[in-house]
Amino acid sequence: MAPSSTQRLIIIWYQTAVFTYIIYDIIVYEDSTDGDYSYIFDYAVNKWNNLGNVTIYNYYQLPNQDPSLRIEEIYDPNNDYIAYYDYDFIDEIFLITYSDTFFASISDDTRKRAILHEFGHALGLFEFNLTVDVNGQLVGPAIPEHRYNAMNQGVRDFPLEPGSCDIEVYDYLWE
Ligand SMILES: [Zn+2]
Repeated sequence: MAPSSTQRLIIIWYQTAVFTYIIYDIIVYEDSTDGDYSYIFDYAVNKWNNLGNVTIYNYYQLPNQDPSLRIEEIYDPNNDYIAYYDYDFIDEIFLITYSDTFFASISDDTRKRAILHEFGHALGLFEFNLTVDVNGQLVGPAIPEHRYNAMNQGVRDFPLEPGSCDIEVYDYLWE
């Protein structure tokens, strides 16, 4: 019997883990922005925290724990990205960076979807639609339920919380 698309997604995901660093099932982030969109970050953090296996804290909630993640904003109108996740090798900290100019032009729902997606990376989830299979082939829209998940890159119409594939992969990683 062929695996279901969700099972297949987990198998595929397993080939392409995202670089992350989680100890004691917590992530502590520091918000170095002007705070205009802190409510968006609170929203996304609550949605992921509701899944129950990893808890994401703002640094002010756990001041004795060094942050492993920093939220930054950039002011470049030519930047093509709403937001992205990467690693600062100098400061040795993960980064979620959002474009302040982009954010100013989009809806709250779109901001929430973008930040849900970036925290998904911080939790170790890869882009579902950019994931490669065991033969190195890109897996595209062959798995339709990708579309309704936060980790489908570039899609801005998924429900405002992690979807079924997001949750399956999250549970596979952290349960
Ligand atoms: Zn992404």
